[in-house]
Amino acid sequence: MYYRFHMKNGENNTVNPEKPETNRNFHTATIEILTYPNKFLSQPTQPVKNIDGELQNMIERMAVTMYQAPGIGLAAIQVGINQSFLIYDVSPQDSERSLQVLINPRIVSKEGTTISEEEGCLSVPDFRADVKRAASILVEGFDRNEKPLRIEAEGFLAVVLQHEIDHLNGILFIDRISSLKRGIYKRRVKKNLKGR
Ligand SMILES: [Zn+2]
Repeated sequence: MYYRFHMKNGENNTVNPEKPETNRNFHTATIEILTYPNKFLSQPTQPVKNIDGELQNMIERMAVTMYQAPGIGLAAIQVGINQSFLIYDVSPQDSERSLQVLINPRIVSKEGTTISEEEGCLSVPDFRADVKRAASILVEGFDRNEKPLRIEAEGFLAVVLQHEIDHLNGILFIDRISSLKRGIYKRRVKKNLKGR
């Protein structure tokens, strides 16, 4: 997921010598992000069974890919992995990176409604739309160290988590807008595919 104000520049990929895990090679390790209308994106994912080394490696590669995009959230299914985990980082652009990992997340409760303005998605290039979202949510899941997480989120974070957890259920943000607006985007994609 991304927002317009996260698209200002490509200088997000700073490395921090104090934290080796943030020193990433942006040129060799990125993974291709699947885009609409790839059908892979519209399937529900399988729960993660083992938080093992392979998963940790994938998290690192996804992080490189997300920061490079640049994006603020990325679900595994967007890089071709049919499993229920996602990463996000909503720290302000000029502050230190803070990668968050959420495994087998579940929205336990929702409250209120809000309009997420000009929501965007790395899997839905060149399109943004307002999306109706819950104003606050309670999410349960696990972090990458298998520690149970309970996140009470509101505002921007609540929107990001709803967007990314939707991905794990095979739902894109364009599935949550009017069919009229969705139609405009679908026709544009069709035209572009034909023009190739
Ligand atoms: Zn997305």
